[in-house]
Amino acid sequence: MRICEAEERCDETSETWRGGGAAVNPTAGNPRRTWWAPIVAWFDSWAASEPVPSEEADRPDWLRVAPFVALHLACFGVLWVGWSPVAIATAGALYLLRMFAVTGFYHRYFSHRTFKTSRLRQFLFAVWGATAVQRGPLWWAGHHRHHHRCSDREEDPHSPIQHGFYWSHMGWIISKGNFLTRRAYVRDLAKFPELVLLDRFDSLVPALLALATYGTGELLAAWWPEFGTNGPQLFVWGFVISTVVLFHATCFINSLAHLVGKRRFPTQDHSRNSLLLALITLGEGWHNNHHYYPTATRQGFYWWEIDPTYWGLKLLEKLGLIWDLRPVPRKVLGERLA
Ligand SMILES: [Zn+2]
Ligand SMILES: [Zn+2]
Repeated sequence: MRICEAEERCDETSETWRGGGAAVNPTAGNPRRTWWAPIVAWFDSWAASEPVPSEEADRPDWLRVAPFVALHLACFGVLWVGWSPVAIATAGALYLLRMFAVTGFYHRYFSHRTFKTSRLRQFLFAVWGATAVQRGPLWWAGHHRHHHRCSDREEDPHSPIQHGFYWSHMGWIISKGNFLTRRAYVRDLAKFPELVLLDRFDSLVPALLALATYGTGELLAAWWPEFGTNGPQLFVWGFVISTVVLFHATCFINSLAHLVGKRRFPTQDHSRNSLLLALITLGEGWHNNHHYYPTATRQGFYWWEIDPTYWGLKLLEKLGLIWDLRPVPRKVLGERLA
């Protein structure tokens, strides 16, 4: 049984996406790097597709990540917009809906292909995942597959064991070297032009969600003022705060889930199982289980290991929207070795 890939070479498929060929990205391989290229990349993430010199790979690209920094600073906007029950409920609902999309679709579908669905629903799940503001499905899956291949080794893009907590939590995301999609890992997904489009213009869906929260707040203020909300307030709570909390909760799986918790299986990485992390990430906290057998749809292997994402996916299966969910083999359930 092929369970852990840690013994394989990490550098075999570490090629990064430089456009995937002229047919889909005419700027691929352009050696000129203008000062405004990072700004263009806010809108077209493939525009800055030239190779990054290795000595710069670990440095933050501050101009490129300015919107990411601004999103964090915008949380202070709550001092001006105040709060209302409907604003907090919106933030909570968007957190849960988008966390489900990150774990159920970006992780368990696009990264590990643990179930099947139709092409149309695959695209809709990708759009749903893109609302989380965690880049496109190819970028997310490519880096995650690389993490599994090289977990907690030097080449791991976000290992707290190798590179410390800050790097594993968010340093790697804002670095120049991890901006491009890892092409060699996602050739199966790149066959779908609609997914490639979402990956290239990865700020479009988040921008539409931000506009929707603002517009809904303005409509509520005009038609139902008794709710006590407005456009700026619903934008700050529903988009800004919800997205920032969602981001850090997701990143805890890259950082804390390799540091805090118990180890059931003797994997060659430092992955751990944590109920607390499972609660805030809808089931992703059973990370040691997942590293031991990553192709199963469920990550809580036993009934007491809470895995709400799996419950949601079972519901989608009952509705006929997805199928062929991959189980945890009985042999694995019997291997409580560590
Ligand atoms: Zn991991
Ligand atoms: Zn995974």
